[in-house]
This record gives sequence, structure tokens and C-alpha cells, in this order.
Amino acid sequence: MEIDIQYDAGAAPFAIYREILYDKAREVTQKIGFVVNRLEFVIFDAKTKKINSTTLHHLNVFIPAGRDYGYYDHNTKKIWISTMTLQKSQHPLKLPFTKLIKPKPGSDFIANVIIDELTHRKTDKGHGTNEYDELYKQYICGSMGYKED
Ligand SMILES: [Zn+2]
Repeated sequence: MEIDIQYDAGAAPFAIYREILYDKAREVTQKIGFVVNRLEFVIFDAKTKKINSTTLHHLNVFIPAGRDYGYYDHNTKKIWISTMTLQKSQHPLKLPFTKLIKPKPGSDFIANVIIDELTHRKTDKGHGTNEYDELYKQYICGSMGYKED
């Protein structure tokens, strides 16, 4: 499966972000058996990308518990993942900023965000719908190691 990752104009295009996201997306999709022809991501900085809720409504974008972490754009089928999410990585290359944001031990935050967005991508539905909730449960169970926060 082709995984395409772009940077939003407001995000610092650090190669490490792309590397972290690529590895995790590959790992998660294989674990839960998620396949589409082309899976597209955009890395954004929640500080520079202000998302207007009215625009969101019109674009039919699904906002997770915290839209600062990631969201799915129904129109473009792109999954937006924030640098804040990627900074929670426990990537072996050791990010210089991991001291600022400590990942919670025992949970894989980035994987959980990706699974949430993949569920939107697959169902085209929001939280609280049967389609979303059923598939999300299935993905979380299928991923075994990923605990919900
Ligand atoms: Zn969500």
C-alpha cells in the first residue's frame, strides 16, 4: 500500500516527523489489516493551522477528542496529523523535544490517533455512529498492543 506524506505550509518540515509517521502508519495498518490504494497524510502544526469550526462543518471534517492531534478531511480523504502528536513518539532516534512532552508509558499515543483517523477514513462516519464505533472497537482489539487512553 502506498503511503504518501506531505507537510502543511505552517509545519516545520523536519524529516524525522515524516519518518515517525511513516513507520507508525505502516506498522498500524499492517497490524489491523487496513488496506486502501493510497493512504495520504498531511503533517500540520496546530499552532499555525487554525481550524474554523464553521469551515469544518461544511467540509465534513471529523474532529477527534482533540483536533490538535489529528483529523480526517472527508473531501480530500487526507488524514491530518499534528506535530504535537508526532512529538509524543518513543522513536529510537530520540527527539530533542521528548523532554517537553513525555509519552505516557504503556500506551502508544500516535498509534491511537492514527487508528481513530483510519476508522473515519474507512467508514466516512463520525464518533457515536454505529459504523464508526463498531469498526473502531474491531481495530483496537485487532491491534492488540494498543491500549486506549
Ligand atoms: Zn475521531
